[in-house]
Amino acid sequence: MPLPTQSRAVIIGGGIIGCSTAYHLAKLGWEVTLLERHKLTSGSTFHAAGLVGQLRSSANITQLLTESVKLYATLEAETGLATGWKQNGGLRLACNQERWTEVKRQATTARSFGLEMHLLSPREAQTLWPLMQIDDVVGAAFLPTDGQVNPSDITQSLAKGARMNGAAIFEDTTVTAIETTNGSTSAVITPHGRIACEAVIVCAGQWTRDLCATVGVNVPLVSVEHQYMITEAIPGILPTLPTLRDPDRLTYYKEEVGGLVMGGYEPNPIPWAESGIPENFNFSLLNANWDHFAPIMELALGRVPALQTAGVKTLLNGPESFTPDGNFILGEAPELRGLFIGAGFNAFGIASGGGAGKVLAEWVAGGAAPYDLWPVDIRRFGRNHQDINWVRTRTLEAYARHYTMAWPAEEFSSARPLRRSPLYDRLRQAGACFGEKLGFERPNWFTAPGETPQDIYTYARPNWFAAVAREHHATRNAAALFDQSSFAKFLVLGRDAEPALSWLCANDVSHPPGRLTYTQMLNAKGGIEADVTVARLSATEFYIVTGTGFATHDADWITRNIPAGLDAHLVDVTSAYAVLALMGPCARKILAPLTRDDITNAAFPFGTVRTLRIAGAPVRALRVTYVGELGWELHIPTEFAATVYDALMQSGAPHGLINAGYRAIETLRLEKGYRAWGPDIGPDHTPLEAGLAWAVKLKREIPFLGRDALQAQSTRPLTKRLCAFLVDDPEIILLGRETIYRNGERAGWLSSAGFGHTLGKPIGYGYIRNQAGVTNQFLQSGAYELEVATQRIPCHLQTTTFYDPAMNRIKA
Ligand SMILES: Cc1cc2nc3c(=O)[nH]c(=O)nc-3n(C[C@H](O)[C@H](O)[C@H](O)COP(=O)(O)OP(=O)(O)OC[C@H]3O[C@@H](n4cnc5c(N)ncnc54)[C@H](O)[C@@H]3O)c2cc1C
Repeated sequence: MPLPTQSRAVIIGGGIIGCSTAYHLAKLGWEVTLLERHKLTSGSTFHAAGLVGQLRSSANITQLLTESVKLYATLEAETGLATGWKQNGGLRLACNQERWTEVKRQATTARSFGLEMHLLSPREAQTLWPLMQIDDVVGAAFLPTDGQVNPSDITQSLAKGARMNGAAIFEDTTVTAIETTNGSTSAVITPHGRIACEAVIVCAGQWTRDLCATVGVNVPLVSVEHQYMITEAIPGILPTLPTLRDPDRLTYYKEEVGGLVMGGYEPNPIPWAESGIPENFNFSLLNANWDHFAPIMELALGRVPALQTAGVKTLLNGPESFTPDGNFILGEAPELRGLFIGAGFNAFGIASGGGAGKVLAEWVAGGAAPYDLWPVDIRRFGRNHQDINWVRTRTLEAYARHYTMAWPAEEFSSARPLRRSPLYDRLRQAGACFGEKLGFERPNWFTAPGETPQDIYTYARPNWFAAVAREHHATRNAAALFDQSSFAKFLVLGRDAEPALSWLCANDVSHPPGRLTYTQMLNAKGGIEADVTVARLSATEFYIVTGTGFATHDADWITRNIPAGLDAHLVDVTSAYAVLALMGPCARKILAPLTRDDITNAAFPFGTVRTLRIAGAPVRALRVTYVGELGWELHIPTEFAATVYDALMQSGAPHGLINAGYRAIETLRLEKGYRAWGPDIGPDHTPLEAGLAWAVKLKREIPFLGRDALQAQSTRPLTKRLCAFLVDDPEIILLGRETIYRNGERAGWLSSAGFGHTLGKPIGYGYIRNQAGVTNQFLQSGAYELEVATQRIPCHLQTTTFYDPAMNRIKA
């Protein structure tokens, strides 16, 4: 068959991801051409072990993985090609108390997400996996719907399904270039000809980064060696054996032809192809590295003594692409329209393949992700991910942590510090314990004299609890200074900046200069794509502030949705300003002596922006708060930041001003009921569901993106609503993802949670769901419990804020 000269979509790469995307996109009726440089499966796919697990820490990524399982269970019947799918279930062991707590919390998470997961005693686990030794096992979890496939067979089966739906697949066809026209993809070039296309979908595994770099698109993934051993048949290993993960021994197992596949995640992974992938690396493996595998083997022998005498068929060493946060990469590149990515699968591409191909196909066909896929969205990366050396260092840490404990609030430690606020050294001197977001060092909490600025991770109450309490109380009762320089900041400029933002923003931003607006930006379904503060600086100039992690995402959303023909342009000015948030009842008393400008409430009310001269610096001051107290966000030209910081600290000392960090911001905002984009609000939630109807201009006759969907939603009962929950027992640790029960029935899960230090109690937020409608009467008539690490705990539901600073009182 000759290569077409035109195809609506071209998929590059015939591994499991490319074939699954072709299968799904063809089913959606698209004209699809898949190009594979060598043969299908010849990249990483042919040498995968084939374990298919489902549970992740995000509900939607778990849903994506369950989509894989659904497809794998039926694909063979559809295509007639075997897939090797076996739903034998998956076991996960816990060998110490902290791990057991983690597993119990995972069981609760599974329950929250509607996935069956049972906790087993060591003996019960051994009944399912008789050859394992259980002396050190505290307990185990069993997911009956997990399974395993043959990676090559499932990929061929997907390819056949794609062909059956009209996709054309060409092997031995390398894409040598991607052609672009006016900022969009327009064609791919191969040695056999050019194919004009609307969408290019790059599923080229570890080749993706270099290929995309040729068109200025950054895909931060690197190749890392990964090994597993295949044994000869072992007596007692049955075809019905569940897969086994033994994270405390860093190893995994699956049955294969009566023997075992056993692999592991070494703490000292070996990067591969640092200077580029060799030519003709097809169906290729790396040399077995027994020395490197020896510690993994040692750990495995302790679990499965039969390995001692088992014949070894091979030690397989295959490279795979890994990413700096251990999640894969999907979506349309922010740098280039029409270029979609599906790559970086961190050794769970077989498990993800079915679901990832489905959502990627829907993303291409629908112009948007079918549901919130933020944890894997390519726009989660930023400027720190440009340098491949930085990416590699961080990725190796993420690889090494694959099976280590996933501690609450855990930070990465490698490749730091990278981005530093001008106040970094001062804050370090002041005892800051830093965390990191998009490479930016941010104070999480501050020590008192004698304390060490170091997180000690635990599932119990952490070592920073008292420090956060101190900072929380100072903010509520005196004042605290937060370095929030990492905020992403944009200018939207131009003759039509106002109509552009009026279209983009759900709230009314068409106020005179000097006004601030808290607003969401919505998609066509009314889902929340961005949650920002918009300050109008002049007739043609708006200043937008958003979260550190959303720099790429929000800039992409805004630029992509400015209506065609309008004169409005976004400029990222993040690095131009440091930000100090001065918050607390004493904020005015601290600021007043440092400026001759009038900062009385009458002259500078809430929701306004002014330029203040502070200690010699021209400062853009925003009267706004995310902690629920009087205060200003001071946006300071970077070179003035240290001077302003020193002046504020000096002026604030008599009023009890202290430094405070991000963990205090979190407890403060939880008490006040401010939503966090990502956990609490996102593309799957509308402002009406999130309790943010007050920030939407539905009553005004101004058209805006998402308006029609909201209007329609406002005429019928809501099927989910974000509510607050309070637990009386202060010792309960809420972390998020705990299951919410209403009258004994599962009704949702906590999106975010923590401890309210003013209340002295644990608090959380979560959506209550009910298809028949979540009315006030429905909410108030329920009795509520939270499942925390499999234990049911009574709690109270609250629809208003816990803490009202205007009245300075607790409302719980
Ligand atoms: C040892 C090992 C064990 C693993 N075990 C498991 C497991 O148990 N479970 C699990 O879920 N995952 C596992 N994985 C991970 C899994 O193999 C990968 O995540 C998955 O195969 C990735 O698929 P892919 O389609 O993204 O990439 P690939 O399979 O690498 O496919 C990319 C394709 O793109 C082609 N290509 C590249 N450049 C071009 C170009 N310019 N033009 C045309 N074609 C191009 C390549 O030839 C290649 O065929 C394992 C990986 C390894 C290394």
